[in-house]
Amino acid sequence: MINTSADPYQDLREAVRDLCQEFPAEYFRKVDDERSYPEAFVEALTKAGWLAALIPQEYGGSGLGLTEASVIMEEINRSGGNSGACHGQMYNMGTLLRHGSAEQKQRYLPKIASGELRLQSMGVTEPTTGTDTTKIKTTAQRKGDRYVINGQKVWISRIQHSDLMILLARTTPLAEVKKKSEGMSIFLVDLREAEAKGMTVRPIPNMVNHETNELFFDNLEIPAENLIGEEGKGFKYILDGLNAERTLIAAECIGDGYWFIDKVTQYAKDRVVFGRPIGQNQGVQFPIARALVNVEAASLMRYKACELYDAHQHCGAQANMAKLLAADASWEAANACLQFHGGFGFASEYDVERKFRETRLYQVAPISTNLILSYVAEHILGLPRSF
Ligand SMILES: Cc1cc2nc3c(=O)[nH]c(=O)nc-3n(C[C@H](O)[C@H](O)[C@H](O)COP(=O)(O)OP(=O)(O)OC[C@H]3O[C@@H](n4cnc5c(N)ncnc54)[C@H](O)[C@@H]3O)c2cc1C
Repeated sequence: MINTSADPYQDLREAVRDLCQEFPAEYFRKVDDERSYPEAFVEALTKAGWLAALIPQEYGGSGLGLTEASVIMEEINRSGGNSGACHGQMYNMGTLLRHGSAEQKQRYLPKIASGELRLQSMGVTEPTTGTDTTKIKTTAQRKGDRYVINGQKVWISRIQHSDLMILLARTTPLAEVKKKSEGMSIFLVDLREAEAKGMTVRPIPNMVNHETNELFFDNLEIPAENLIGEEGKGFKYILDGLNAERTLIAAECIGDGYWFIDKVTQYAKDRVVFGRPIGQNQGVQFPIARALVNVEAASLMRYKACELYDAHQHCGAQANMAKLLAADASWEAANACLQFHGGFGFASEYDVERKFRETRLYQVAPISTNLILSYVAEHILGLPRSF
């Protein structure tokens, strides 16, 4: 395994690797084949406390920062697994931790830490508005001690493997707010009750083994006490969570990148064609070497974003840049890995095609590369708004 830069997280890395070794490539290949959920793996991660890394110790978690959480996600993907099955718990936690009331934290966090409850889902994206989040049409209308939810969401992941979901909905119509980012609120939805009370779930079969769904809300009533923070400020709160999500997914891409590089480097040493290892050809060496350079650079930006997030400082620029650099680097590594495996890269038993599909997702979700570039153009370069 390549080890270019010893960081201070070696003990953490080794502990996560030890657990991941119990779930080898065959396990994830089978789960992918069957399009099933890696329940045993998520259970083991939960029992070992890794999914409660960000929960403060007073609530039964380990009280670690986003930096350590990112190392956990990176190691899962580097081991050949896919954090997509459980990463929601990490970044959704941040929203509850930073903006939830003392009562909400007391009520949910210890149960999430022990594994009794899962907070794996976040409902933001809608079919008719896409990335233009401030135009969302799902509404939450206050009626006495309840909010009534109506509308539709799409691509909402891990609903069938979560007990709770963070939901973004409009509480004041767009036409009635001064700024389009105002008037939205976030709620904690108890998924165990919701399906019987007005929420319909329609799974979306997709390219990767990622459990994701369309959701329809028809007068779903939730208790008013499930509002997180102040009504109307949900967009601001969710942005914080999205920065954590982008940074953690950057870490997953970095893990993927190392996995592809380790895999193809070994293959290039072993595969002999024209009487010599294919890795003796510079045409094979250079794309792999370049991918490593880019993965390492992305990793540094990931650490920068984590450091700022953990210090409660603005990290939007760094989180977005880390996500773009890491997604590009893992995709570059994936292409080199597939290419130099020749025909064998397409055979499921090598796992390259599975990881190739998995890492490709991150050019689009949770935010597409174009939207990151437009963020940098507008917010960092000060260029005129394009939309
Ligand atoms: C497997 C999977 C799981 C997901 N899980 C979740 C989840 O759990 N919760 C959730 O809320 N969402 C989830 N999503 C949604 C995901 O965040 C969105 O798909 C993503 O943000 C892109 O939004 P969109 O699909 O609506 O694309 P659109 O907004 O329709 O954009 C389509 C493409 O057009 C381009 N584009 C659009 N606007 C511009 C512009 N102004 N400038 C330049 N280019 C532009 C971009 O390249 C973009 O990729 C998931 C998606 C997938 C595929």
